[in-house]
Amino acid sequence: MRFSGLKVFKEGLTGNKGWGPHWRSPEPKAEYDVVLIGGGGHGLATAHYLAKVHGLSNVAVLEKGYLGGGNVGRNTTIVRANYMLPGNSEFYSHSLKLWEGLEEDLNYNVMHSQRGIINLVHSDGQRDAFARRGNMMIGQGDDAILLDTAGVRKILPYLDFDQTRFPIYGGLYHKRGGTARHDAVAWGYARSASDRGVDLIQQCEVTGIDVVNGVVKGVQTSRGPIRAKKVGMVAAGRSSQVAAMAGLRLPIESHVLQAFVTEGLKPCIDHVITYGMGHFYISQSDKGGLVFGGDLDMYSSYAARGNLPLAEHVVEAAMTLMPVIGKAKMLRSWGGIMDMSPDGSFIMDRTDIEGLFVNAGWCYGGFKATPASGHTFAHLLATGTPHPTTIRHRLDRFRTGFGIMDEESTGAQHNLH
Ligand SMILES: Cc1cc2nc3c(=O)[nH]c(=O)nc-3n(C[C@H](O)[C@H](O)[C@H](O)COP(=O)(O)OP(=O)(O)OC[C@H]3O[C@@H](n4cnc5c(N)ncnc54)[C@H](O)[C@@H]3O)c2cc1C
Repeated sequence: MRFSGLKVFKEGLTGNKGWGPHWRSPEPKAEYDVVLIGGGGHGLATAHYLAKVHGLSNVAVLEKGYLGGGNVGRNTTIVRANYMLPGNSEFYSHSLKLWEGLEEDLNYNVMHSQRGIINLVHSDGQRDAFARRGNMMIGQGDDAILLDTAGVRKILPYLDFDQTRFPIYGGLYHKRGGTARHDAVAWGYARSASDRGVDLIQQCEVTGIDVVNGVVKGVQTSRGPIRAKKVGMVAAGRSSQVAAMAGLRLPIESHVLQAFVTEGLKPCIDHVITYGMGHFYISQSDKGGLVFGGDLDMYSSYAARGNLPLAEHVVEAAMTLMPVIGKAKMLRSWGGIMDMSPDGSFIMDRTDIEGLFVNAGWCYGGFKATPASGHTFAHLLATGTPHPTTIRHRLDRFRTGFGIMDEESTGAQHNLH
């Protein structure tokens, strides 16, 4: 089934009875060339690119819950390419380019909206740091404009420009940044992978990884054993637990990140805004809700729900930046489990077990990475060599200390990234 304006029009006139399921729900086969553990955005994107770019469709995505029920359906949907350090810079640039062609690639409306992101500046030192970051972004081939206070006021007149504690000195404007509809991204990749022959198996928890003489042979699941020539671990917040099934200890800590949404309002915020002094970010969804978030809950946890002190912290930051938000009613909050790496950058590599690959450590920034994560992980799985944009994201950087990509200069403390 292909989507088109004509089809939408026809279905609208005939009671929307012609839409079928977007993907097949097959029984698991006894053996696959590749098994991916985790049906989040990254697992589904990997399946799509394995089939589309590398012609590998004897592939299964095993998901313990339902497709898109993890972080891919829980995030605040910010998509950007404003990383600074070599390694991250070219990877996220690659990802943004894939986003820009994604709807056409998937024939699916993922509501990618390049509404622009403004990172606010609150001190001279921060202005210098953002000027440097902006230059790095331009050097990478992406876009960046350094705004002064008047420039920010023109675009975001509703911010509190009178407050003296954290005055707004300007902002770094990344026009190609924006948002996308998170679950549509999962559905679009799922539909495309399924159409190309990939088996998407829901309610199928991986409970063990079979390794014989250092070679992966398959997985044990809640729906029986499945043999596989290659296994990719793409389990985000559960990465450490999944890797432990093969006897591996990953340098990953899991923390909760919360998000919040208000009641639906008329259009009022038409950009993504981040507030540098309180770590607060906000945008408005197409349904009208103001979607926002802040820091991680500081302790490690596998509970996909947050606690009150962090909620208070985020709301305080919101009120400092734009007091007008106090008039909106908060509708919901939720949490997701973040796979925090020691340097805040992701890990994509082979492991010491032949045929077993890891894709993890996305911290709280992996939604924007979805297309490139899938594209480059598929490359690694299919060819056995890292994609040029991920050569710095090897596991051994934590053993040797070389190549650490600490974007935020916070050191190795997972909960500060
Ligand atoms: C509140 C919040 C806000 C965020 N905001 C942003 C943002 O604005 N921009 C951004 O770029 N990123 C953001 N992120 C981060 C981003 O959502 C994640 O980094 C990214 O979604 C992780 O990759 P994924 O989609 O594959 O993860 P997931 O969707 O979590 O997929 C992993 C899947 O693995 C499955 N799984 C785990 N264990 C097993 C098992 N044993 N067997 C089978 N399946 C298993 C899980 O059920 C899950 O579905 C945010 C995250 C949260 C929670």
